[in-house]
Amino acid sequence: MCGFQGLKNFIFLAFLTIALTCVTAARQAFAERLAFERYMMGTSVEMIVWSPDRDASEKAMERAYAEIERIEKKLSVRREDSEINEINRSAGVGPVRVDEEVYRLIQESRRFSEVSGGAFDITVQGLGDLWGFNRPGFRMPGPDRIREGLERVDYRKIRLNEHDSTVFLEAGGMEISLGGIAKGYAVDRAVGILKESGIKGGIVSAGGDLLAFGRKGNGEAWKVGVRNPRDQSKNICILPVSNLSVATSGDYERYRMVEGKRVHHIIDPRTGYPSTGCMSATVVAKSAMTADALATAAFVLGPEAGRALLERLPGVEGIVVDPEGKISASAGLAGEGGQPPKEKPNRLDSHQKHNGVGY
Ligand code: ADP
Ligand code: MG
Repeated sequence: MCGFQGLKNFIFLAFLTIALTCVTAARQAFAERLAFERYMMGTSVEMIVWSPDRDASEKAMERAYAEIERIEKKLSVRREDSEINEINRSAGVGPVRVDEEVYRLIQESRRFSEVSGGAFDITVQGLGDLWGFNRPGFRMPGPDRIREGLERVDYRKIRLNEHDSTVFLEAGGMEISLGGIAKGYAVDRAVGILKESGIKGGIVSAGGDLLAFGRKGNGEAWKVGVRNPRDQSKNICILPVSNLSVATSGDYERYRMVEGKRVHHIIDPRTGYPSTGCMSATVVAKSAMTADALATAAFVLGPEAGRALLERLPGVEGIVVDPEGKISASAGLAGEGGQPPKEKPNRLDSHQKHNGVGY
């Protein structure tokens, strides 16, 4: 029974395998890896795609960069004429009508504040330049100034009115900034444009906050290295990802040592001081906006509460490095058969790979 039929099946399967291999090889021969890098949104924005058509892909990336530029301009707090600035100028005075995109981003931001118990809060901007450690002559602000600044920080005082699409900051002097969510949003939009243009696999990264879609030309998943926050030439683990975002908030990229203290750009809205909760928090999620915001939230919450938040939310995983350098991952990442990494991350000093940040 199995003799002749079996042989026929075998020949058929062998033929099919050879034919499929030829098709894949032919496709790969025409696909090439294209990589671009530009400085935008205060950081380096990289795009990598696998493309069978260089011309079309370059045009798509051009459009994706233009979209990021548009978002950067629109959300900037520094531009006098931005809607964000108008909202801030009208704090305590009256509601400001904004367009749908800005409205939705503020609404999403408030939602992230709610799920994180206020650890993510776009009104930290109300502390103004107190933590502007890049300005000449910067000194640690005294507790009185922090206390006074904190009176302007409270996401619950952002009043949204869906009917007329208005935003009102209830207390005078309040300010918002979408800095904690803008990069992720821009990455999502840029990937949307690449996909619409027919690109099947690629990665867009804004300062390490990235979304990887499809697969590499050889069919493998993208590999993303999570950096060691105290030695950035090393990775604490490598995550193979496809159609997932990875974003990290850390105290090591934008910071300055002042009077023996590490002053950095992520503020704990509960204290008004740069958060000391973690060295870094990395979040894996479907969208880069979610990963970006939750990385900031988990970072502020610290290792236990931060990890608990990531475990509570569906479709979200993460890795936190506590102030002593101890690494822990959410159950889905650390457990068997779940999302990678293959090995459980444990301590910084005992688990260092040196693969470079590999895409
Ligand atoms: P990182 O990439 O390290 O997460 P981001 O640029 O994403 O840094 O976020 C930092 C920016 O977010 C700050 O420049 C500030 O505008 C804003 N921000 C700081 N602290 C918070 C916070 N607790 N919640 C929301 N936004 C914050
Ligand atoms: Mg972030």
